[in-house]
Amino acid sequence: MIRQFELVERVREYNPNTDEALLNRAYVFGARAHAEQTRLGGGPFFGHPLEVAAILTELRLDDASIVTALLHDTIEDTAATRDEIARLFGAEIADLVDGVTKLTQLELTSSETAQAENFRKLLLAMAADVRVILVKLADRVHNMRTLDPLAPDKRQRIARETMEIYAPLAGRMGMQSIRVELEDLAFEVLNPEARTSLMRRFLKLKRDTGDLIPQISAEITEVVAATGVGVEVQGREKRPYSIWRKMEEKQTSFSQLSDIYGFRVLCDAEEDCYRALGAVHRHWRNVPGRFKDYISGPKANGYRSIHTTVYGAGAMRVEMQIRTRAMHEVAETGVAAHWAYKDGHRAHNPFAVDPFEWLRELVERLEKGDEPQEFLEHVKLDMFTDQVFCFTPKGDVVGLPRGATPIDFAYAIHTNVGDHCAGALVDGRRVPLWTRLRNGQQVEVITAEGQTPSPHWEDMAQTGRAKAAIRRALRERLREEQAGLGRDLAEQSFARAGRSGGRKAFAAAAAKLGFASLKAMLVNLARGEVTGRQLVEAVYPSQPKGAGSTPPEPDSANTPPKPIVRGIRRGAAIRFCTCCWPIPGDRIIGLSRKGGVVVHAISCPLLAEFEDDLEHWHDLSWDPEASKKASNVARIDLTLANQPGTLGTVCSLVGEQQANIDNLGVTTRKPDFFLMSIDLEVRDVKHLSDILTALRAQSFVNQVERAITPPEHEAEEAAGEQPRLPLGSSPAPRN
Ligand code: MN
Repeated sequence: MIRQFELVERVREYNPNTDEALLNRAYVFGARAHAEQTRLGGGPFFGHPLEVAAILTELRLDDASIVTALLHDTIEDTAATRDEIARLFGAEIADLVDGVTKLTQLELTSSETAQAENFRKLLLAMAADVRVILVKLADRVHNMRTLDPLAPDKRQRIARETMEIYAPLAGRMGMQSIRVELEDLAFEVLNPEARTSLMRRFLKLKRDTGDLIPQISAEITEVVAATGVGVEVQGREKRPYSIWRKMEEKQTSFSQLSDIYGFRVLCDAEEDCYRALGAVHRHWRNVPGRFKDYISGPKANGYRSIHTTVYGAGAMRVEMQIRTRAMHEVAETGVAAHWAYKDGHRAHNPFAVDPFEWLRELVERLEKGDEPQEFLEHVKLDMFTDQVFCFTPKGDVVGLPRGATPIDFAYAIHTNVGDHCAGALVDGRRVPLWTRLRNGQQVEVITAEGQTPSPHWEDMAQTGRAKAAIRRALRERLREEQAGLGRDLAEQSFARAGRSGGRKAFAAAAAKLGFASLKAMLVNLARGEVTGRQLVEAVYPSQPKGAGSTPPEPDSANTPPKPIVRGIRRGAAIRFCTCCWPIPGDRIIGLSRKGGVVVHAISCPLLAEFEDDLEHWHDLSWDPEASKKASNVARIDLTLANQPGTLGTVCSLVGEQQANIDNLGVTTRKPDFFLMSIDLEVRDVKHLSDILTALRAQSFVNQVERAITPPEHEAEEAAGEQPRLPLGSSPAPRN
């Protein structure tokens, strides 16, 4: 806490004619009035008015303003009255203290629609004397600096009010240094994540480049001095909120040093500004579109400056504001410059706007009703409290929902980056893709050409964009696989019919059958939606098979059983997986197990469990003889309407297709439908798909699919799980 003699000392520095006795009387009055009060954070309450007065000394304000600061909370919070203050300190100070009290009582945070109106009230309230608002702004600066002890909801309320009302007001009054401080303090409360993330990024950038401010400042000074103009160069880091707002407004990235550093070139005279500008532009190339001359065209609040950005060493952008010292003072303190003292007298800065004029014009515009919205331009600040902000290596900011992973980050950059995401470096370290990102982290996505999304990515992703893209990619891959399988099936169908297949024949079939593309037909074939026989028929309608093109049907009674699968050593026992029920036409894989080889369809979900066990995998293929006999068992699941005679119709349909029912069981029975599974003895995939098609054609069949028993239900003896009705047909041996 600043002490009274220090305060007086500060005032005396810019105003040797200050009325010390007045300041001391105000101190004593205030200290007594607030004697019993303490601040929430501890310490006597009077420390607060003292600090507010100290802030006003930075603006070099007159005694009346300083005294008002010392007394500003007495009417509001103590037994003191306006009359008492008028009697002791005069009418001018009493009016000022009264004005600040009324401002404090003005309810400023209400609904957004009422804010413009409140602003109008606020301005009218201070119309009597703009110094009221200067004290109020200093009051707010100190309150914002000491928010910590307050309850979180109160902190939020005050910070929001500051961001929405007081910071824009300070800006409008041209008081840049106060505006910038208020904004940044409010930003810290309202959006700590965003601020922290910016700070981290900022520190990293600084670490990478070193402190360039002295170096660049010296360079500018040297370049300008060569033309005989003496300048003072001030380099500064911008405040996080300034950077943030710029990024928000311009949707730009945060990678250039000009985004975080700014340089001020202070000259003695106006013509020196233009000579300095000339020197700078002769020495460095200027960035197009960044030059503005607010000296010849000042802003309404008196702001004057030349703005330019040049490409410095290494094409690094350097942002500069060139102005005289007098202009600089107005740029920092705005309308307050009007009251500023220097050497004991009002400073009379030629560039300071007359606050009465300024306010009159502003109120006039407000009265016309078009100004308030512009006044509230920063109200729209979005508060992303449930987001995290990460950076690309180039410095682009990527906002993601909390819990997002590098996968979300990758898809946020581009679908292609997401689809080929092979890994991620977070702050330079390799992390698993399920890692949750935190604010301020730099994320680099590693891509690989052959990489494609895997199904479990969908669970890792948080954003709808990533999830949708992953699903799309997975669907596309499934289609590719099905098209490949369809092509194999088509080849087999044509071969069985003694016809040559190939792309041209298939394309003809697709056109004939009305498919949009060859691929669409192959996918449908793989799904059993169309049969291989239909394909052959489409190209070679109802023509009898060429004689001799197929070998005669072997007499099964006379030939010894032969293995129907190729790729397994002779004599090894073969079992077929009772999860996927592979039949000829299915692409198959063998897994060595104790006691033999288990044959799985390539699509079998059980295979995933053995992915790490590749030495037990065998590439198998069907013996062409396998599909000659209708003894390969496949399981299908049906949903049937519960009508009399349906089961009989199913059996006779299967019979018509020259297939046997090996086993059947009802798995679920509901009043109006029932689910059943049937083990069919068929020749191959094509045969099965014919049967499925025939069944689908029936009105009482809701759904019929090849069965895939989920892995958890799969046991070594799946057939024993459900009650089954053995039918009369005798099952044929498998091999
Ligand atoms: Mn106060």
